[in-house]
Amino acid sequence: MHLLENIEHHRSAEIGFYEEHGGYLALKKAYSMEPGQIIEEVKNAPLRGRGGAGFPSGMKWAVAASSHNKQRVLVCNADEGEPGTFKDRKMLENKPHLILEGLAIAARAIGAEMAIIYLRNEYPRAMRSLIFAIAEAEKRGYIGQNILGSGANLIIKVHRGAGAYICGEETALLESLEGRRGHPRLKPPYPATEGYMGMPTVINNVETLCNVPLIISMGAKAYSEIGTPGSPGPKLFSVSGHVNKPGVYEFPMGITLRELIFEHAGGIRDGRELKGVIPGGISTAVMTPDKLDCPLDFNSIQAYGSSLGTGAVIVMDESTCMVKVARRSSAFFEHESCGKCTPCREGTGWLRSIFERIEHGEGRQGDLELIHDVADNISSTSFCALGEAASISAKSFVSNFKDEFETHIAHGCCVMSTEVVA
Ligand code: SF4
Repeated sequence: MHLLENIEHHRSAEIGFYEEHGGYLALKKAYSMEPGQIIEEVKNAPLRGRGGAGFPSGMKWAVAASSHNKQRVLVCNADEGEPGTFKDRKMLENKPHLILEGLAIAARAIGAEMAIIYLRNEYPRAMRSLIFAIAEAEKRGYIGQNILGSGANLIIKVHRGAGAYICGEETALLESLEGRRGHPRLKPPYPATEGYMGMPTVINNVETLCNVPLIISMGAKAYSEIGTPGSPGPKLFSVSGHVNKPGVYEFPMGITLRELIFEHAGGIRDGRELKGVIPGGISTAVMTPDKLDCPLDFNSIQAYGSSLGTGAVIVMDESTCMVKVARRSSAFFEHESCGKCTPCREGTGWLRSIFERIEHGEGRQGDLELIHDVADNISSTSFCALGEAASISAKSFVSNFKDEFETHIAHGCCVMSTEVVA
């Protein structure tokens, strides 16, 4: 059993097909267990969140389950907006029942009777797939009233986001769900103690929930033997950019960048040389080709100066202008800054404008130091992780491709195109 099993089959989204291949057996097993036992299994796996932070899911579940407030809520974060990331979309469109099964098991574990799937607005096909799957699962008694004759209930609603990247941040997501502008909340209190409408709320990413039926089916011990000790389990990677075979891949945590790019994604297009890789979506630091032996798991990658993020591997070949990529990345953060705090709201625009003038041949001596200075100020004073991500991204481009930036400034041209762009 694995996450992408049968995903290319034309019936992969149908409940009958899912059941024929062992679907919902994990839910039945979960209903033969005590809620506390389910949480222990997830803790012992140990499952780490796949949305980017890698937080131990079982800990969140245990906190919510121990709350005196019995009205608990489960939220599936399907607001996949990190540039380069498209793994959750694949699961939402093609394996909605795996997500629903994970949700139903998690709800059983924490004692929730309401679950909300917060879905990215730009995923209409996923919306149709989910709505259809929810109706099918309800008819079969896997969700809805009196689940599997146990007397337990679970209502699942799908809420469409309005296209703001910041709503992938869990507290901004909650604000949005409650009908307000998507601004992150001050923590603590954390959602597991006080979340949606003040109720204890567990928020798990799509891929995280997809791992739950695997853990219950195979048991925590067998699951923990997949991947690396600090980052067990399988991982989905969205590979894009200048590779011959872009797509969603599943491998045990710890596969190296080299193996993923050259053995599975077909290597670099047109026989060109690799120039840089962003390993976890544009919120993570860009890496240079000498880091190809980096294992892709939560812990190992930090020693290589980046992070796993969402596992969105963006590959850039030798024809790529890194000044342009840095400018486009900073423009994204400027556009998606929610505006709540000044360092991020103003600083991301400042970074974009410096990159823009360098790209256009109007860079000044001292601009690279200024980028570091502005980025440091953003990361040390901004309210949520978006500001820090904008800072990490900007600094990594300048540090890793300093010569290219200096050439742009000195000659007013791009070394890739050798064209004067001023
Ligand atoms: Fe909003 Fe940026 Fe401040 Fe986060 S860091 S709260 S995204 S302005």
